[in-house]
Amino acid sequence: MTVFSDRDPREAGATPSLSVVLPMHNESRGLDHLFARLVPALSALGLPFEIIAVDDGSRDDTLARLKEFRTTVPNLKIVALSRNFGKEIGVTAGLRRSTGDVVVVMDSDLQHPPESIGALLARWHEGFDLVYARRNNLDRGGLLRNAFSHGFYKAFEFMSEIRVDRETGDFIAADRRVVDAFLAMPERNRFNRGLFAWAGFKTATVDVTIEERAVGTSQWSFIKLLRLAANAITAFGTLPLKIWTVIGTIVSSVALIYGAYVVGKTLLFGADVPGFPSLLVAILFFAGVQLIGLGIIGEYLGLVFSEVKRRPLYFVREAIGFEQTADGSPAAETLRDAP
Ligand code: UDP
Ligand code: MG
Repeated sequence: MTVFSDRDPREAGATPSLSVVLPMHNESRGLDHLFARLVPALSALGLPFEIIAVDDGSRDDTLARLKEFRTTVPNLKIVALSRNFGKEIGVTAGLRRSTGDVVVVMDSDLQHPPESIGALLARWHEGFDLVYARRNNLDRGGLLRNAFSHGFYKAFEFMSEIRVDRETGDFIAADRRVVDAFLAMPERNRFNRGLFAWAGFKTATVDVTIEERAVGTSQWSFIKLLRLAANAITAFGTLPLKIWTVIGTIVSSVALIYGAYVVGKTLLFGADVPGFPSLLVAILFFAGVQLIGLGIIGEYLGLVFSEVKRRPLYFVREAIGFEQTADGSPAAETLRDAP
């Protein structure tokens, strides 16, 4: 963890240092474009910077090419993870190694324009600790995907204590304090946007035009997105667990009232045989309700299970360009201690 000095990196005359964290999975083909725009954009800021590229278990030659780029791209550091852990973990690994007073996290497919970093930093200079880029153009995710993402954010808003804005994505500038807060959260089930929002701090947004991917296609399949959504909701709220008490109570009450009615009716008018279809419908319906309830308990149990195993979040296969660590050794990193 960073030891705070009295010096505020934002005060006039101070030269704050900047870290840029880039998660990468099979991005080899786009690296030329990326660095061709990123390096001039960073140089124009006139701040000392480091670029931390996280190779998240790419199957192409991303890692080899990154190593080549170290000769031409100033201050490029590489963290190669032992396998593909997913973007949320990739970002975490990059943040873990970052040293800047302010850290920018952005996609490495140029959807987040590097020229906008200056605008994010300007808000940070004003005193905001967490600056989100807010996409000001319409996303083109397709009808189903958009409907799904709208539904997810509504559900998330309803079920958790924190707010995440659908239009603000994963392009952020975060003060060192926010990064440390983020890294102090040890959970294995990570939804970065939720973790940042949960940490609080003074936030601001900047409108940014999100671009089309330079090369390749998005790596988020619909199933992966569903998984992330389920993780996000279960990690930040317990309403899905608790709601079954309410539903169960309502259903039992209705059943009791109906039972009383049936008993009364039988006493007054005698028994009649018909009624099997409604019986079947009721049984199937409540069996379904119970299975849903069990499934949701299962989701949370799975979550608890993955937490109690206390496995490291990820393993580092190679770390290149960092001062303190021995390169090339497989290392489990804990989030709290310095590397
Ligand atoms: N990414 C990653 N690990 C993964 C999938 C994606 O590090 O398992 C990176 C990817 O290289 C890119 C960023 O996360 O820099 C966003 O991914 P992508 O463009 O596929 O997602 P989208 O822009 O559609 O949200
Ligand atoms: Mg993308």
